[in-house]
Amino acid sequence: MIAVTILGNNSALPAHGRHPTAQIVQTRNHTFLVDCGEGTQLQMSEYRIKRSRIDHIFISHLHGDHYFGLIGLLTSFGLNNREHDLHVYSPEGLEPIMLMQLPASHTLLPYRIYFHTLKEEGLLFEDDHLSISCFKVNHKIECYGFLFEEKAHHRKLNAEAVKHFNVPYEFYERLQEGKDFVTPEGKVIPNVTLTLDPKPGRKYAYCADTIYYEPICKHIEGADLIYHEATYMKDEEERARARYHSTTIDAAHIARKANVGKLLIGHFSSRYENLAPLENEARQVFANCEAAIEGTCYIV
Ligand SMILES: [Zn+2]
Ligand SMILES: [Zn+2]
Repeated sequence: MIAVTILGNNSALPAHGRHPTAQIVQTRNHTFLVDCGEGTQLQMSEYRIKRSRIDHIFISHLHGDHYFGLIGLLTSFGLNNREHDLHVYSPEGLEPIMLMQLPASHTLLPYRIYFHTLKEEGLLFEDDHLSISCFKVNHKIECYGFLFEEKAHHRKLNAEAVKHFNVPYEFYERLQEGKDFVTPEGKVIPNVTLTLDPKPGRKYAYCADTIYYEPICKHIEGADLIYHEATYMKDEEERARARYHSTTIDAAHIARKANVGKLLIGHFSSRYENLAPLENEARQVFANCEAAIEGTCYIV
């Protein structure tokens, strides 16, 4: 299971009670922060996110609405006596900004930050249950989306078959790992006879700030959920193109082309107080679409 909690769903200007971009992605063993716009810390408090659990922060690009909350968060980690390492991933340029701000504000952190510079698409993080990779989107400055992929679970035991062939309990774990069973008489019982296919891992893609850009489809193909920006409605298409942003219709076309399960739209322009028209417009192209709402946790 992957759980995505939206902390900020607006574009550059905070407006109508909405905040610049930030979201929490929780998996079996980890809490990840994706982008960190102004107000992220307050939103974490509001929605009871345990910030000390965050060890990896992914910043899509260096427009301020995606990282202006970061220096405050790094400082608070220090004030809370954090000692364990923090990993921050971003395109080039973030590290010198942070390393200038910290001493300028006489802040000495009691923990270590590892800055990872994104230069190309590829794997960023991996453990037994999950992998996270980045992919290029098309924005005014260098910008990356992030793909969270759960690994397939272990094979499931076929209870009847296991009983039928008298497989001992001690061997169950090896069956789940895909091993064949050999009876005391030396007969090989193939694993497929004794187990069932595992549940596929879930897949979530955060598509960052981008103009309509079909090359991302190959990365997010078949995702259970994607978050795609829809800064404007269709009637502002020209403005969207000029600013390297997408419209509701653009986001919906990407969702449809990539054959995803569900589309969340966000990064709304402050010109829209009511989000229902944006949601409705996107649904004309891709029905399983929702306007992302701050504080809502979307289970993937
Ligand atoms: Zn933005
Ligand atoms: Zn941007």
